[in-house]
Amino acid sequence: MKYIEQHAHMVSRTTDDYERMALAGCEAVCEPAFWAGFDRSSPAGFYDYFCQLSEHEAKRAAKFGLSHFCWLGINSKEAEEVKLAEEAIALIPEFLDRPNVLGIGEIGLNKNSKKELRVLEMQVELAAKYNQLILVHTPHLEDKLKGTRLILDVLRNDPRIRPERVIIDHVEEHTVEMVLDSGMWAGMTLYPETKCTPSRAIDLLEVYGNERLWLNSACDWGASDPLAVPKTALEMKKRGHPAGVIEKVIFSNPKKFLRQSGKFKI
Ligand SMILES: [Zn+2]
Repeated sequence: MKYIEQHAHMVSRTTDDYERMALAGCEAVCEPAFWAGFDRSSPAGFYDYFCQLSEHEAKRAAKFGLSHFCWLGINSKEAEEVKLAEEAIALIPEFLDRPNVLGIGEIGLNKNSKKELRVLEMQVELAAKYNQLILVHTPHLEDKLKGTRLILDVLRNDPRIRPERVIIDHVEEHTVEMVLDSGMWAGMTLYPETKCTPSRAIDLLEVYGNERLWLNSACDWGASDPLAVPKTALEMKKRGHPAGVIEKVIFSNPKKFLRQSGKFKI
């Protein structure tokens, strides 16, 4: 089955993962900028990472016939050093014209701190100024509900931000409705245990329908599964979802959202 992996941190995966994804029907991979597992110590660290995402990783993906796109931004886990984040954000505009850069992401909140909120606001401003799509990371567990509300407030406060050009990722049962009601897109991240398991994601699709919803694996260097999307599609099939609905969720929906960048082609 053909699908688009909308959220994968491939720099921390092996080439075997690319091969497995291609064999499973993946047509394109989108890689948001992320925390490296340690805090970068200088703007140069971010610069190199942005080059890795926008130049080098695409070559690795191409060896398996996969198109590779990326999002650039400062993850909330590295937002506590506001001055460093500001310097790193200042580097982003020079990358925005690159043909595989889809927009600003993943940005958002982690612990809902004032500093994280400040860095989020700076990046929403950047996206508005350069008319970029936005991909948002929402916090986990007990911080998710409050964090999602705070993020939606920041986005709705700026009249330049069009809701249909924003995807709020890692939604769960208690946040999906407020995201869809805002007119923004909602991403369900399929993790083996935390975030959304495949069966919970399918439950959500059965309750909320399939408009402005997408699925991703968000595979990274932690416990995660780069094949979570096709495995969930198989589970949908077993539950009796028609092929057209499955195709919409794993292929047509992400294509519709991502094409708004003007760069996403497969
Ligand atoms: Zn991520």
